[in-house]
Amino acid sequence: MKSYQSKWQTRALQSLYDGFCRMAPLFKPVINSLGAQRSGKYLAMVERCVKGTLFDCQMCGECLLSSTGMVCPMNCGKKLRNGPCGGVSDDCRCEVQPEMYCVWLNAYEGASLMTDPTVITRIQPPLDHTKQGSATWLKIINNESNKLHSVSNHHTPVAEQESGSFELACLSGNFVVTAEISPPDSVDSRDLLRRADILRGLVNAINVTDNAGANCHMSSAAAAAILAANGHSPVFQSACRDRNRIAMQADIMGAAALGVRNMLCLTGDDVRAGDQPQAKPVFDLDSISLLNIAHGMRDKGEYASGRALMSRPNLFLGASANPFVPSYEKRVLNLEKKIAAGAQFIQTQYCFDIELLEKFMHEVRSRGIDRQCHILVGVGPLSSARTAKWLVNKVPGVHIPASVIRRLEQSPDHKLEGIRICIETIQALREIKGIKGIHLMGHKNEHVLADIIRESGLAYSDNKEAA
Ligand code: SF4
Repeated sequence: MKSYQSKWQTRALQSLYDGFCRMAPLFKPVINSLGAQRSGKYLAMVERCVKGTLFDCQMCGECLLSSTGMVCPMNCGKKLRNGPCGGVSDDCRCEVQPEMYCVWLNAYEGASLMTDPTVITRIQPPLDHTKQGSATWLKIINNESNKLHSVSNHHTPVAEQESGSFELACLSGNFVVTAEISPPDSVDSRDLLRRADILRGLVNAINVTDNAGANCHMSSAAAAAILAANGHSPVFQSACRDRNRIAMQADIMGAAALGVRNMLCLTGDDVRAGDQPQAKPVFDLDSISLLNIAHGMRDKGEYASGRALMSRPNLFLGASANPFVPSYEKRVLNLEKKIAAGAQFIQTQYCFDIELLEKFMHEVRSRGIDRQCHILVGVGPLSSARTAKWLVNKVPGVHIPASVIRRLEQSPDHKLEGIRICIETIQALREIKGIKGIHLMGHKNEHVLADIIRESGLAYSDNKEAA
């Protein structure tokens, strides 16, 4: 992978930066004599010139360079401040700007050369947009550090709150099954329920996607509430692409008030993946900040601002993981960060490569991560070799080995072969230690998903959603 900086450049820049931070208090008398406003203005001009030239700095006003291997994360296509998204291509390119390498892969590489390589694993708070364009150096001189949103990673539900059925299923030790449905382009709730009812009694929870692929549908919070009111156990998905932190916290409160007990925090695909590429991508938060905030709302009973809630949302919190894209070894670090931020269950991207997953799970087990969260691996049937190629080329983060596509091409019945591959994958996953279950995906294909659950022998458990 091509880096922005060579090793010696990273080390030299870090020494320069550390030297400046050590000497910074010496500038304090000058700052005091000029006054905060004037000195801030001059410093911002100098900072913009120096850091702009050296690091392609975007002057976010809350510099993370020393935590991100001297690579500015504000050059990330989604402005992520806590690690890579799952859309990195097999050749390490950015999902949003394929002409450049993923900023976060360069950041991990740079961080490994820093005096403290673990600093990149710290949870960073969401960006304070009021600081945009201001001088971070003024903060260093005044010895003010970024305030981290302090939330303990203690996941025991608060005393008065009971675990929901999906959480209980994860804790039961049985092999858990979840399935994903996309809400309808309809205001008639029966259009949603007809599809969800196909899965009744077969799954432990139903994920409701949040404008998947950046295409608009009925809102995930509303659809999840309809499912909850009709005896299903929905997982409300919330993607950072479309809403800012105020709207996302409001949705959490609304969904919880309507009986939704599970939430999956996602960053979201690039808006240009959908049918309204003109839309403004928001990405005010990243999935880790969102998890951290939802975690704080539940366990501390307060919004991100610190304002107290009258009653807390009782949520089983989840996040996604993609073990099938670069940088493979750093994906585990990203997973650990999500758990520290509050993730209790994980649902992965589609798994078509057991070998890659085995390597990932080996690392997961060796770090004890499988004991800290419930890992459900994403699976789904491929309807043809053409669909498989389309997924690889058009859906960011989907990895399908050439051998799987060949097998489909050589089969006289692609659809049946896709189902067979899916069932074989499920059987293989059941043998891998640390995997608690599967997460089935298949666009508007609920009947096929239901058949796969039955044929895999997973339809037996009496702890599934009520039949
Ligand atoms: S691939 Fe994702 S994490 Fe990497 S730079 Fe692009 S948007 Fe950011």
